[in-house]
Amino acid sequence: MVGVIISIIVACIASFTALSLNERVQKNSFFHYLFWLILASISLGLGIWAMHFVGMTAITLPISMHYNWILTFVSLIPGVLASFIFFYWVNKPIQSWWKYIIASILMGLGIAGVHYIGIRSMEMDVQYVYDRPTIFIALCISIMFTQTALFSIKYSSKKTKNFITKTFSSILIGCAIATTHYVGILAISVYAPRDYLVATAENHSMHNTFLGVTVTFFLGMLIGVLLLSSMMDRYVKYRANYFDNLTMLPNRRSFESYIEKSVIGQTLAVWHLHDFGKINQEFSFMFGDEVIQHLTKIFMDYKPPSARLFKFESNRFAYIMRTTDDTNIHEMLIAMEKIAEILKRPITIKNKKIVLPGVCAISAVKDYRDLHSIYSNALAVFNDSSIEHKHEVIMFDPVIHTHTFEKELVDGIEKAMINKELYLVYQPKINLRNVEVAGVEVLLRWNNSKYGFLSPAVFVPILEENSKMEMVTDWIVEQACKQMYQWKKENISLGKVAINIPGHYVTSSALLKRLISITSSYEICPNEIELEITETSFVSNIEEAMRAVGVFREKGFSVALDDFGTGVSSLSYLKQIPISTLKIDKTFIEEVPNSHKDSLIVQAIIALGTSLGLEIVFEGVETKEQVGFLRASCENPILQGYYFAKPMRAEELFHWQENIKQKFADKI
Ligand code: C2E
Ligand code: CA
Ligand code: CA
Repeated sequence: MVGVIISIIVACIASFTALSLNERVQKNSFFHYLFWLILASISLGLGIWAMHFVGMTAITLPISMHYNWILTFVSLIPGVLASFIFFYWVNKPIQSWWKYIIASILMGLGIAGVHYIGIRSMEMDVQYVYDRPTIFIALCISIMFTQTALFSIKYSSKKTKNFITKTFSSILIGCAIATTHYVGILAISVYAPRDYLVATAENHSMHNTFLGVTVTFFLGMLIGVLLLSSMMDRYVKYRANYFDNLTMLPNRRSFESYIEKSVIGQTLAVWHLHDFGKINQEFSFMFGDEVIQHLTKIFMDYKPPSARLFKFESNRFAYIMRTTDDTNIHEMLIAMEKIAEILKRPITIKNKKIVLPGVCAISAVKDYRDLHSIYSNALAVFNDSSIEHKHEVIMFDPVIHTHTFEKELVDGIEKAMINKELYLVYQPKINLRNVEVAGVEVLLRWNNSKYGFLSPAVFVPILEENSKMEMVTDWIVEQACKQMYQWKKENISLGKVAINIPGHYVTSSALLKRLISITSSYEICPNEIELEITETSFVSNIEEAMRAVGVFREKGFSVALDDFGTGVSSLSYLKQIPISTLKIDKTFIEEVPNSHKDSLIVQAIIALGTSLGLEIVFEGVETKEQVGFLRASCENPILQGYYFAKPMRAEELFHWQENIKQKFADKI
């Protein structure tokens, strides 16, 4: 009895491992998806095989028997092959009933193949025959279990309770394997000569136990290795995303996620090494790398004990401390001053003496809800006009620094446009039904001469507050139309071009005038342009906003409601404002299909949008699972996100859109 239970557990564990590995097929991985498909198939195939042989140890026949080792190993093949076909179809995006049924039948046959070749590998002194109807019943039960497991796997990709569904599916597959085996054994009748001696029974039992233990041991090892490789894959991805590969220090992304999760105030010290690019230019990138490694050592050596060190961009190091006590801030200050002393002296690398100019900014934010500003505080310090990059260590002061940082951006915007620090990137939106580019969204970028690359999430609100975004939007519309004109000349069709319109500018008559005059001067038809507006445009004056949107629509422009779901608006706005498109905010997409709540919210928004006859765009799509979920939930989804493409310069976009259908054939 123990043998029977162990054999079923072996089958269920192997199925669970295989299903876990199969999940990696759908995720962006360091390894090719075929790697995971093959591992999942081997794992399940081995599980079927091991179950059979462990199961045989549970039966002690009073006959002499030994194994034909070649057939024993051949019996592994049908299980692995059937598992491969099974997983291959499970992962296909487009499914039909007949494919499910064929996959289940093949799986049932694969399990039966292992079982009957396995029996054949047992060479006995006796004769045996099969009862065909019982075999047929065993096969049917096995197919039924597999079929149910297949449905539950597909179901689990849409719904949230992934672990439970996976466990349930593993038990079903385990039962399918066990049924074929044990009902299959019932179908065997053994015939021995009347005077057959049973003295060898003990021998056979030992033989079997040895095989059972060996199989279980190797299966355990294999599952261990497979799980390890899956963990390694996750780890490689995690390291690549969250660590700087030169210094091995956590990077800016790591810092941001650390800050997001913080529930207490923090103290930050950022070292900005000035003109670091010059070192690379003057010597070489390799030399620059050595300098960074040398600096890493200094920063590690002088790290305050309770601080964590991060590496930002190419020329910034940052310490963060989980406290804002005066004594700790003082400790941070002393450590930074020691580093400043060291950096003032020339450092020797490869017989070259260099002095690195730099400055350190310290910012302490006591309320964790304000932590999002901790890094921009440091940026504001770097902008202080008194800074000479002579290794000053400066505490952030809101009165002096914020004002200067914002003022610098506001004053510098016009120059930035002329100097081409400001430029546009385009992010495609994909129509999932025909795998064509449904349109592109225009996004603004600022490579600031002083602060380096600035996120629009930082500078757009500052420009908006200082009434500069109207002028910048006019410039964006002009640049975008110029680009569209160029694409037309080159016969490139990218669908509608979406332009973000800041809150209060939507209701301005100047915007409409600009739009009409710029589009006509570049021979662009308004229906080639979509205006992305947010709920902030109509919170202050809904009637005004409704009127403005109505006029845009009359003139032929499409209007999309951006970041839908994050704002404060009531749903009745949706009915009143004549928008054409609903853009569901990426915060909802982030957690689907894993979060049950978010999945339901997204489905509810889809139902709402569809009933109002709106086009629905999903932003922030990053994984294959999200694509699968959205395809299943929405009739005609349009997707935008890093999974398909990051925002690109027009030249890059040109190459990206070539052969798009082939490119995405197996990605969606
Ligand atoms: P938004 O209008 O919601 O733009 C979408 C943002 O999501 C963009 O960030 C885009 O790069 C990012 N994104 C796209 N796909 C993914 C993804 O798969 N995952 C994640 N995590 N993010 C994704 P970006 O370009 O940094 O812009 C941030 C915000 O700044 C924009 O949000 C918009 O509010 C504002 N902004 C950007 N460009 C302009 C512009 O030209 N005009 C105006 N008025 N605002 C702009
Ligand atoms: Ca947008
Ligand atoms: Ca958005």
